Amino acid sequence: MVVTRFAPSPNGPLHVGHALSAITAHDLARDAGGRFLLRIEDIDGARSRPELADSFRADLEWLGLEWEEVPAQSTRLAEYEAAAERLKSEGLLYPCRCTRTDIKAVATEFGPEGPIYPGTCKEQKIDHSKPVAWRLDVWRAVAFVGLLEWADASAGMQIATPKQLGDVVVMRKDAPASYHLAATIDDAADSVTLVTRGQDLFAATHIHRLLQALLDLPVPKWHHHPLLLDETGKKLAKRRGSPSLADLREQGVDGAKIASDIRSSSFPIGMSLAKD
Ligand code: GLU
Repeated sequence: MVVTRFAPSPNGPLHVGHALSAITAHDLARDAGGRFLLRIEDIDGARSRPELADSFRADLEWLGLEWEEVPAQSTRLAEYEAAAERLKSEGLLYPCRCTRTDIKAVATEFGPEGPIYPGTCKEQKIDHSKPVAWRLDVWRAVAFVGLLEWADASAGMQIATPKQLGDVVVMRKDAPASYHLAATIDDAADSVTLVTRGQDLFAATHIHRLLQALLDLPVPKWHHHPLLLDETGKKLAKRRGSPSLADLREQGVDGAKIASDIRSSSFPIGMSLAKD
């Protein structure tokens, strides 16, 4: 059974790039007689605007998609916490009180997601009676589980190389999980068999594969689709003027027509698929 999902964060409105992602996941499931899930990833603290979730549902309906909705991340905090506690008890997490600015100031290496955490707090006795973030000791974790592989629908078999992201945050200062931990646990809890999302999250998959091994979770397959770019060659973003689906909907644009254009790769003027 093929189970795919679309997992938007209600931090801002959806745009045509999200529509591409949702349609890709939807069609992969539909064509295989499987299930297409919607999961709202709403644990971004102050950035999260739960009221946007209704607008997301209206967008998907307007595009003509059918889905099953699974529990939002905010309902699963206890599960994330239990998983993080397990990793802590295995000595795989360490507390960190560095801010983004601290890290930028001292980082010497850069990975696919920006500066690599230089391990400042790793050997220190950090007081964790106050709120701190918890990082995965990736080197130790890799030594613990050994060599891992994962499969991407286009790129084929990959040897997991999670060290390229460094010691990522697993438990945030303000939430019991980071995106990496929450999404990994959810995909297992939701029985997702084909994790479909944009190419920008390809590197994150190396960490997710590692977390699956550490937490004894089933291993799905992945489908990272090319991103939709604007006329400046950048990822679509509301702040750069990419129209939101809600705007198009309110202007009376036909959602079914937009969906069929996306399916035949004829994107709105100025938009094109990234080459890799
Ligand atoms: N919530 C993430 C986003 O909106 C997507 C995560 C995923 O598909 O794994 O970018």
